[in-house]
Amino acid sequence: MRSVTILGATGSVGTSTLDLIEREPDRYRVRALTANCDVAKLAAAAKRTKAELAVVADESCLPDLRAALAGTEARAAGGRAAVIEAAAMHADWTMGAIVGCAGLEPAMAAIANGGTVVLANKEPLVSAGEVVLAAAAKAGATLLPADSEHNAIYQCFDFARPERVRRIVLTASGGPFRQSTTEEMRRVTPEQAVAHPNWSMGAKISVDSATMMNKGLELIEAARLFPVPSDRIEIVLHPQSVIHSAVDYVDGSMLAQLGPSDMRVPIAHCLAWPDRMPTPMAPLDLVALGRMDFAAPDPVRFPALRLARAALEAGGAAPAILNAANEIAVAAFLARRIGFLEIAAIVEDVLHRYDPAPPESLDAVIAIDAETRAITAERVEDCVV
Ligand code: NDP
Repeated sequence: MRSVTILGATGSVGTSTLDLIEREPDRYRVRALTANCDVAKLAAAAKRTKAELAVVADESCLPDLRAALAGTEARAAGGRAAVIEAAAMHADWTMGAIVGCAGLEPAMAAIANGGTVVLANKEPLVSAGEVVLAAAAKAGATLLPADSEHNAIYQCFDFARPERVRRIVLTASGGPFRQSTTEEMRRVTPEQAVAHPNWSMGAKISVDSATMMNKGLELIEAARLFPVPSDRIEIVLHPQSVIHSAVDYVDGSMLAQLGPSDMRVPIAHCLAWPDRMPTPMAPLDLVALGRMDFAAPDPVRFPALRLARAALEAGGAAPAILNAANEIAVAAFLARRIGFLEIAAIVEDVLHRYDPAPPESLDAVIAIDAETRAITAERVEDCVV
């Protein structure tokens, strides 16, 4: 019996994680489930899994949660600190599936416990990669990547002989505007941007996929997780999203992981690791698939790719600024306050304006994240359409 905590249990990744866990109730005991304010979904999941604790980050939602859990054994709690406390309660396996840098402190609390921490939540690795990895090493925690690309690389990477890796090939679907002109992208709506052709995901990552900032964040995430120089991480468009990424070795062998576009595959890998577990997905039908296509990405139509690579190469505070500015700009786009093309333009502008000293602690990253959000909010006001 393994104890499990899911941070961000009501989201897309959280729901997929619950689906797998609930198929094997004799193997998993749920300690804590957290959400921001989706009380109905959180309370239902807490009841089904007999969770010990359910937490809403937004404290104003706590009375509703208490009411929804009345008469059950699950405790209810609310507030940002309560989410961090839930993460700090020991669990053998923790899924980090909060969206954005809001997941950073809860992830750090889970890591400090020294268990297995699965990071779907990529933004903390982008903003605070060195701090997160140092904390995991200190606590003896095992970090596993659930992001499908990084999970694919993890499955193919020879950690004992990293010098034998020539290249990492990070695949990208290209999102819904892969073939759109810049002029067409100027007019896209939030509804069009969140309609990803292959994956069903939360709104923020769907917009990131449409701008290709998601691939930029993943480039930085890959550089954090795998001991390969950043100029040897290549992004290749692969619209079918069947090859989730590949590792190219010096002898000319390229190892890739293939699978359906369903997050339950990489999550199952992390849940069973180092073993394997069955999932409900049908086997990949290569004959039905017929073909796979590849192309080079276009950094002119998708400037987020260029910005992310520059931030990675600049190092220091740049990745944290890139991420925080992007979170604010994406939220403004989803709220229809700025246009689609303004997202990358604002991120670039903020990267030029703000140049703090490299952060060496969690507090320093949090301060840079907060300052970047304030600067970006001002830029959003200037761009409001
Ligand atoms: P969703 O938007 O679907 O879910 C986000 C979760 O975080 C929800 O449980 C939400 O609660 C909770 N949440 C939101 N804001 C806060 C906050 N301020 N404090 C605490 N909890 C909060 O996101 P996804 O599941 O799509 O993505 C989660 C993470 O995983 C992201 O970092 C994303 O980049 C990454 N990822 C996602 C993939 C996918 O397929 N979806 C694939 C690979 C990576 P509530 O429901 O109450 O709002």
